[in-house]
Amino acid sequence: MNTYSRLPVTFAKGEGVWLWDAQGKKYLDALAGIAVCGIGHCHPKLVKAISEQAGTLIHTSNLYHVDKQEKLAKKLAILSGLNKSFFCNSGAEANETAIKLARLYGHNRGIDQPTIIVMENSFHGRTMATLTATGNRKVQAGFEPLLTGFARVPFNDLDAIAQVSAHNKNVVAILVEPYQGEGGVNVPQANYLKGLRQICDENGWLLMLDEVQCGIGRSGKWFAFQNSEIAPDVITLAKSLGSGVPIGACIGGNVAGEIFKPGNHASTFGGNPLACSAAITTLDIIEEENLMRNALEQGNFIQKNLLEQLGNLSHVTQIRGHGLMIGIELTKPCGELVKKALEQGLLINVTSNKIVRLLPPLVIKQNESEQIINMVSTLIKEF
Ligand SMILES: *Cc1c(COP(=O)(O)O)cnc(C)c1O
Repeated sequence: MNTYSRLPVTFAKGEGVWLWDAQGKKYLDALAGIAVCGIGHCHPKLVKAISEQAGTLIHTSNLYHVDKQEKLAKKLAILSGLNKSFFCNSGAEANETAIKLARLYGHNRGIDQPTIIVMENSFHGRTMATLTATGNRKVQAGFEPLLTGFARVPFNDLDAIAQVSAHNKNVVAILVEPYQGEGGVNVPQANYLKGLRQICDENGWLLMLDEVQCGIGRSGKWFAFQNSEIAPDVITLAKSLGSGVPIGACIGGNVAGEIFKPGNHASTFGGNPLACSAAITTLDIIEEENLMRNALEQGNFIQKNLLEQLGNLSHVTQIRGHGLMIGIELTKPCGELVKKALEQGLLINVTSNKIVRLLPPLVIKQNESEQIINMVSTLIKEF
C-alpha cells in the first residue's frame, strides 16, 4: 500500500556504517535504519549467530519453554535491573504492552477508568493505543475515534504533571521517552526523570520509559534512564534490540513485573529462538566491543564539531542530543536536505519538519564521524 514516500534508491548490501546501492555507489549511513543497526550492517558475529540459529530452530511458539528467550530475559534483567520481560515484535507492540499493563495495574487497584499521562511531541507507534499516546496530530488525523484514558502534558515540565495529579484521581502511570526521537531529538533538563520518579512514588504510579529509540547503548549507557540514576518500573525496547531481526520487549521490575497473569497478553512470534538469538548476540557485541563508550565519545565529537561549524549560522537554531542521537534544528523546513545528502552518498533524516537527525551506528569510527561532520556542515551552510 502507498504508506511511504520512498527515496529513489535501493540498497543491495551493507557492511559496518556503509551501504551500497544496486549500481555499486557507496553511502555512509548516518541513520542506521532509524536507530536499528547499532552494531552496523551485517556484523559477522550476528550473521553467524542467526545463520546457525536458523539451521537449528527458528520458531516453536510460546506454548512451550524457549531457552533463548529465557536467556535473553535474564540478560536484560541484569542490564536493566528490571526482572521480567515480555517479548513482542516491534516498538508499537512493546508500548501497547506497557499501556495494557498500566491499565490492568489500575483495575487491580480499583481504578475503573485508568489514565496514563503522556507528553506533547512524543512518539510511541502507529497502533490505535500507541498513536493515541503519541503527541502528534499528523499521526492521529483520520483515525478517530481515539482511545480514552490518556492525559497529555508538555514534555520536560514537572509542574504540569503535578497539576494533573491534583485534578485527576484516575492516573496510574506516566509514559515518556527519556530523550524524544521523532519529536525532534529533545533532551530534557538533567533532573527531569528524577522528578518524574518522585511524582510516581508519591502517587503510586508506574514510571514507564519508552526506550525504543534511545535504548541499547545509543545514549552511552545500556539504557537512557541510566544517565539519571533512577529506576523506572517499565521500559520498552525494540529498534536496535535485534539489529534488524524484528523483536520488541516490555520489561518490568518488581510490582510491574507481576501484573500480567497467563491469558492477559500474548504474541505468536514474540521472543522466538531466531529473534532472541539476534538480540542476545547484539547485546554481546555491544559489550565486547565497548560500543557504549564509543557511542558517547563519537556523539560528543560529532556534536562539538557541528557546533563549531554551524553554531553561529543564523538559520541554525540549536544543536542538541545525547550520545549518538543528534538533532540540528534549523529555522525553516529542511526536508529537501535528505535528498541532497543522498545524492552525495550520505544517509540522514529530517524529523518534525526542520530538525536534521543523525542516528549513526554505534560502531562508527572517528574518521567516519569526520566525514559526517564535513558533509552535514557543508549541506547546512549551503542551505
Ligand atoms: C520507532 C519508535 C516506536 C515505534 O516502533 P515500531 O517498531 O515502528 O512500532 C515507538 N517509540 C519510539 C520512541 C520510537 O522511536
